[in-house]
Amino acid sequence: RKPRVAVVFGGRSTEHPISAVSAGSVLSAIDRDEFEVIPVGITREGRWVLTDGDPGALAIEGRRFPEITEGAGRAVALPADPGGRLIALDPAEGAAALADVDVVVPLLHGAYGEDGTIQGLLEMAGLPYVGAGVLASAACMDKEFTKKLLAAEGMPAGPYAVLRAGQSLSDADAERLGLPLFVKPSRAGSSMGISRVTDLADLPAAIATAREVDDKVLVEAAFQGVREVECGVLEGEYGGEPEASLPAEVHIDPRHSWYDLEAKYLDAPELDIPPALPDHVVEEIRATACRAFTALDCAGLARVDFFVTPDLDVYVNEINTMPGFTAASAFPKMWAASGLEYPKLISRLIRTALHRRSR
Ligand code: ATP
Ligand code: MG
Ligand code: MG
Ligand code: MG
Repeated sequence: RKPRVAVVFGGRSTEHPISAVSAGSVLSAIDRDEFEVIPVGITREGRWVLTDGDPGALAIEGRRFPEITEGAGRAVALPADPGGRLIALDPAEGAAALADVDVVVPLLHGAYGEDGTIQGLLEMAGLPYVGAGVLASAACMDKEFTKKLLAAEGMPAGPYAVLRAGQSLSDADAERLGLPLFVKPSRAGSSMGISRVTDLADLPAAIATAREVDDKVLVEAAFQGVREVECGVLEGEYGGEPEASLPAEVHIDPRHSWYDLEAKYLDAPELDIPPALPDHVVEEIRATACRAFTALDCAGLARVDFFVTPDLDVYVNEINTMPGFTAASAFPKMWAASGLEYPKLISRLIRTALHRRSR
């Protein structure tokens, strides 16, 4: 029979609605001649529901994002836990449907999805899944450790400070970092909880905003006059070297001063693929994206985000192990421009996971 693919979306993180939108696109494009698809939603409370997978219900309408709610489907137990003790609140009939899934697509962004937690659960269940494993997911989700591991491999970040729970920015760090600052939750995505600070008087409020998402906060010196470039990486087919897509330069809608949530999803940016940069810079970006992927032990896919300075120095900003995945998102668009259309990209990711089986 066809491989049975559980597409899992929604989830407990602040990026719940973004994940739902990614799932809407994947569910409408996935090749159903090749795969049998089981659409599994997770509510914000963490309840798993077997949905009807209607892509129409998983789209942005006007400026409103979709939500996975309990009404969206039946509750199911996890395959690893048919008794429903660990996670599922209701070990309903759907358990049987998940018991013999062949592969999982954890199409989840942020905490409890992109951070190694569901990956650990799937490892324990012996289920292959698309994307990075436990350690790489956790290390890329946590911007403190992403920076430290990249620096150890010769890819240093710009100046930053880490504020652990309860800490505030020291005077020495404030002086070292200057203004403007970017204040962000260490573990988050889709720009949630991030502020740009131009006046130190606004710093405590920005730290509080970030702490609503994560107790640990990063304060970074703002790169100024930089261009933002992203690059997609795929695990090599059959265990080969990772491959980089053509990069994209993100031209943010001028109503936004930086790439915030609305600029990402509501006032979609123009993407220049490949960017108007000298060839050697484009090649440096692609090579660095692959180095970063390998340095963090990534698997499956990743989107590496860069800043390119006016002097054409290339800095890695961060790595996303489950990047935004709507057909209009940067990752699929970069691969389409590189010759891999969206449905084929989805198939390749799933086949890679099936081929890997267990790590
Ligand atoms: P993603 O949706 O890509 O996962 P994220 O929430 O992980 O985003 P970042 O990519 O680190 O967050 O930052 C979001 C945006 O904020 C960047 O694309 C950029 O526009 C701006 N930004 C973040 N850090 C800096 C910085 N140090 N200097 C200048 N701009 C920055
Ligand atoms: Mg990110
Ligand atoms: Mg992200
Ligand atoms: Mg980013």
